[in-house]
Amino acid sequence: MIYKILIANRGEIAIRVIRACRDLHIKSVAIYTEPDMHCLHVKIADEAYKIGTNAIRGYLDIDRIIDVAKACKADAIHPGYGFLSENYEFAKACEDAGLIFIGPRSEVIHKMGNKNIARYLMSKNGIPIVPGTEKLNDCSLDELKTQAEKIGYPVILKASGGGGGRGIRVVHKEEELESSFEACKREALAFFNNDEVFMEKYIVNPRHIEIQVLGDNYGHIIHLCERDCSIQRRHQKIIEIAPCPSISEDLRKTLGVTAVSAARAVGYSNAGTVEFLLDDYNRFYFMEMNTRIQVEHPITEEVIGVDLVVRQIRIAAGEILDLEQSDIKHRGYAVEARITAENVWKNFIPSAGKIGEYFPALGPGVRVDSHIYKDYVVPSFYDSLLAKLIVKATSYDLVINKLERALKEFVIDDLRTTIPFLIAITKIREFRRGYFDTSFIETHMQEILEHTEDRHQENKEEVIAAIAATLQRIREARK
Ligand code: ADP
Ligand code: ADP
Ligand code: MG
Repeated sequence: MIYKILIANRGEIAIRVIRACRDLHIKSVAIYTEPDMHCLHVKIADEAYKIGTNAIRGYLDIDRIIDVAKACKADAIHPGYGFLSENYEFAKACEDAGLIFIGPRSEVIHKMGNKNIARYLMSKNGIPIVPGTEKLNDCSLDELKTQAEKIGYPVILKASGGGGGRGIRVVHKEEELESSFEACKREALAFFNNDEVFMEKYIVNPRHIEIQVLGDNYGHIIHLCERDCSIQRRHQKIIEIAPCPSISEDLRKTLGVTAVSAARAVGYSNAGTVEFLLDDYNRFYFMEMNTRIQVEHPITEEVIGVDLVVRQIRIAAGEILDLEQSDIKHRGYAVEARITAENVWKNFIPSAGKIGEYFPALGPGVRVDSHIYKDYVVPSFYDSLLAKLIVKATSYDLVINKLERALKEFVIDDLRTTIPFLIAITKIREFRRGYFDTSFIETHMQEILEHTEDRHQENKEEVIAAIAATLQRIREARK
């Protein structure tokens, strides 16, 4: 049994976990840094403890977090996403301290949390991976050059420890390889404290399809269908859809079975996500596994009818997963839009400050997972996510209508947000028809911006002209 959970996170995911605790009659413990004193997770948890003055370091301080958990007699720790969620040393420290880490075992995180090791293991287990380097350790520039000649440009460089769309560089020709390699290594070291880089063939205009898996501590693993996360900007997801509007039931089954065997190959338990790229011919390639709850998990909850965070907790407590694959059926469509505090007209730079009026969308088929409230001051230190708007309907057409309706109802004042940009996306024909891949935002940027009706759009014309010119330059350079 679990009686008390410490949540080693902040923002909307901390709130999401506290709500699951309440639903299960489990006590919740929040931790916070000095600048987060007025955060909602601190207000609504049963207990809250300050863990430092530094905005970021506090949520990464393994020893301190474990000490707080022991002192307040928590029996488990939920890591959320980001921060320490995929840090195997943190999971190991919990295990060593006799605390339940709500996630897979530390050795599984160690294997799958590193993209390069995961690639190697998956390929050994017969899971198709993107062609690229197949070395377990770091690659030199010369090795990458040789490999790129073999697989052909364009290629993509990735940080082994990367995440959140960072530590990624697309390289179109050999002349760009050296500078991209150095830039990638620098970014990897700065963000992930690990400068190891590997390379993959760059699949042109793929779809990003990921499978949610759930496994108990006794080897029973199922999948909960897929999410299409192809609507991305700079390799970061903006809108996610479940199920994918453009794959057949057969492919859905194959992807599900492959994801379960990937999870089984490493003895996976708890919730996890296997990410695949799908090319024009519907060939799929393993990309990475996220060994944690995913930002976009709510859309799976909506179409499958399973509370993933509650399941995570029950599995961690040692319960048998009482769901069979045949119990899993998807109904209708769900879409999530990530509303962020960013200024669209200034190249999406994060905006911080106090929130004025706040009216989240409501009504049938609408769910909002968020930590913000009127007068909350959005700090500049963290992720710019303000709210996840999740809508559900019986068909793809209706769910896009509902997304548009809910976004138009959503009011977050006195701060620049991406709401007008998201509304504009719902107007693009390819999106409405369900025909899109990861190049969608880049390809349609001009059209989306033309539809973006923001109250503050002083420089709309110049921005659109600049985007058009840049797109033209890119097209010519790639000829
Ligand atoms: P998801 O894969 O669930 O869609 P994202 O990739 O958008 O999640 O990442 C969610 C959050 O976690 C972001 O704040 C991102 O910066 C952070 N994050 C993801 N992976 C890592 C990592 N390896 N190290 C540090 N932060 C990460
Ligand atoms: P992160 O850990 O940041 O989520 P991923 O490895 O999952 O990094 O890649 C993020 C995104 O980058 C993918 O969703 C996809 O759009 C793009 N991407 C990654 N690898 C490739 C590839 N080999 N070819 C084309 N696009 C890729
Ligand atoms: Mg990913």
